[in-house]
Amino acid sequence: MRQKMSGTAPLSARLEPWMEDLLNDPEQCEALLDAHGSPVNVHHFGAMGRNVGELRSAAETHGIDFQIYFARKANKTLGAIDQAIREDCGIDVASLNELRQCLQRGVPADRIIVTAAVKSTALLSLAIESGVTISVDNEDELRDALELTGTERQPLRVALRLAVSHASIPPTRFGLRAPQWLEILRDGEKVSGVQVAGIHFHLNGYEARARAIGIGESLGLIEKLRQLGHAPRFVDMGGGIPMSYLDSASEWEGFWSALEVLPAGDESLTWKSDRLGTGVYPYHQELVRGAWLDQVLSTVSDNGLPSDPVVPSGQDGQSVAQALKAAQIALHCEPGRSLLDGCGLTLAEVAFTKEHSDGVPLVGLHMNRTQCRSTSADFLLDPVLVHAQHPRRARTSGSAFLVGAYCIEEELLLRRRFEFPAGVTAGDLVAFPNTAGYLMHIVESASHQLPLAVNVLWDGGRWVLDDIDKV
Ligand SMILES: *Cc1c(COP(=O)(O)O)cnc(C)c1O
Repeated sequence: MRQKMSGTAPLSARLEPWMEDLLNDPEQCEALLDAHGSPVNVHHFGAMGRNVGELRSAAETHGIDFQIYFARKANKTLGAIDQAIREDCGIDVASLNELRQCLQRGVPADRIIVTAAVKSTALLSLAIESGVTISVDNEDELRDALELTGTERQPLRVALRLAVSHASIPPTRFGLRAPQWLEILRDGEKVSGVQVAGIHFHLNGYEARARAIGIGESLGLIEKLRQLGHAPRFVDMGGGIPMSYLDSASEWEGFWSALEVLPAGDESLTWKSDRLGTGVYPYHQELVRGAWLDQVLSTVSDNGLPSDPVVPSGQDGQSVAQALKAAQIALHCEPGRSLLDGCGLTLAEVAFTKEHSDGVPLVGLHMNRTQCRSTSADFLLDPVLVHAQHPRRARTSGSAFLVGAYCIEEELLLRRRFEFPAGVTAGDLVAFPNTAGYLMHIVESASHQLPLAVNVLWDGGRWVLDDIDKV
């Protein structure tokens, strides 16, 4: 099945058994497209439990108090929320609508954290009214929230968003530095009614060591907050927990070495010999989820230098896990992508095959470029071609680029070139594997008045519409 389509330098996707079953059943694939149009986002949340379990068992080995909050912005289905709750996770919400949907879905307030980058009055009000912890980003936001709390009697429950300021971590727009928070909180009058429940940070990148540093800095801030009479209970280290889309390290390295030596103008690997220079997700990673968390928790302070506070001063030689336990602080995290590993694929129909005016072969799909894309420069995984039961025309073999529905010359669905050794034609199906984390939703648009893709999920017996698409 997998050999019907592959990159000219292949990057073979790891497929879950449910994906193999579906893609081996052209009749079922065609039925989904007939019912819902192309493309259709197909979800099966069975793998989330495994992903959660890997993190939990690493935390358990270290004996720490640990909670997972699923970062909802990574996938918009309500089915993902339901599954996260079944797996005993909380939810990290990034907007008013996300918060509303969680509350309507019955997620308990103490299982939700609001981390939206910019928070509307309506969002702050609903969070306060429902007793949901707010990760506050800055002083304006804290004061806005306090004004809204004014008439109510309960304290304002917040996590302080910390801008980790270690030299090895790039500067960030999010949160404030520890001394800034302390200065704000020392002004008792300004912040009366604020209850600091925890410290929150979220870092770019996927480095375990950077999280260890962030946790160390958070514990240092917690010590000082305790002196101010606060009783924080957790450090939330955000998301960015790595996952791997490819099993083969050699394919991943092979692709990059081939790209490096590609002569300018050679289009055998990528469109217009694109080097895919900056900002692509590391689709292959060695340390993922549990093993990665184990590394975070095992990190030990280098040498106790104050300039390198992996763990707070005076606790030199302790691991991150030991420092958390000594401080009686729970560790929270907010994985999005890595919880959705194995939970979705995007299925689209081939509209046409043709040539670019300079002769480069093209395969057009009934979908646009925003429907399988993240903020990363490209989705570096081979799609799976499913031959239609009754092909409309004779198939042609060879290699081609995939183009989409937006009226833009550069509307490439993927930047890499693909081989079709068994041929391809209108009516065949192309599946983009493992797209549930960000790739379906984070930048999808309905430009040209083309409708957004429909979302279906496996309910245990059949493929059904997700509630997000029932209006
Ligand atoms: C996006 C985001 C996450 C999730 O990140 P992943 O890389 O999907 O794990 C978690 N927390 C915050 C605050 C975020 O903005």
